Amino acid sequence: METAPRRVPVIGIGVDVCVGTAEGSGGVGVGGGSGSKGAIEAPAGARNPVLQAALALHGRGGGQIVTLNAEMTMAARANPELGAVIAAADLVIPDGAGVVWALQRKGFRVQRAPGIELARQLLEHASHHGWRVALVGASPEVMATLVARLRRELPGLDLAFHRHGYQKPEDWPAIEQELLTLQPDLVLVALGVPRQETWIRGLAGRRTGLWMGVGGSFDVWAGSKKRAPRWMRSLQIEWLYRLVQEPARWRRMLALPEFAWAVLQERA
Ligand code: UDP
Repeated sequence: METAPRRVPVIGIGVDVCVGTAEGSGGVGVGGGSGSKGAIEAPAGARNPVLQAALALHGRGGGQIVTLNAEMTMAARANPELGAVIAAADLVIPDGAGVVWALQRKGFRVQRAPGIELARQLLEHASHHGWRVALVGASPEVMATLVARLRRELPGLDLAFHRHGYQKPEDWPAIEQELLTLQPDLVLVALGVPRQETWIRGLAGRRTGLWMGVGGSFDVWAGSKKRAPRWMRSLQIEWLYRLVQEPARWRRMLALPEFAWAVLQERA
């Protein structure tokens, strides 16, 4: 049984509320996962509507998954091309605490769905279901470490293709062609926002399978960057951890108070 996610605009940028994640006044179809009262374990992902939505999308032939946070929402408002790419995406998940907060203000109680977690769950699913997987992006060193780690951690994974993200411009068309011919079930792309999103969009109509921009996830999985500790994540100050790790991001992070202001204005 599958109900399509409902797209809700957050300061003009649509984000998908997946059934089972929303409750309250404006919420949609509450109750996903609440039926598992018996002793039998619910199937993997049963209480994870975002993963379910991604798997359903794969079942329909695939599409583009965008992981939306406050920074990206502001970038999309300033950059109509990115805005159009997000609007055309097949699944837009609430990756950031700011987006979750904005949805809450509209009556949608939604769980945060960090892209790095969905990407990992998809890799695990892939390793158990014979999915062909491709990885594109990050530095050559990170990619080499990541491939070795994934082969160790997920021995069942059919890692059919991997390329680092610092290719010469003239080499990209051949990479694209190789990927399109391969028809992977899952392509994770770590080229940074907005490049990863626009690149994936540029292959629309020719690609099959799930294609997802994953930002710095490869760096985290390869151990070259750290995710914020759980306590910081639960206090919703992951952004602060990132700022301390990468001070050069401060200018980008000015988007966060701007986002908050725009959300508060929207209600007024
Ligand atoms: N990257 C890449 N090629 C480039 C620029 C960036 O492969 O030309 C990679 C970079 O090494 C990193 C990822 O893209 O692994 C971007 O990570 P970041 O945390 O900056 O993601 P964002 O916050 O932009 O989504």
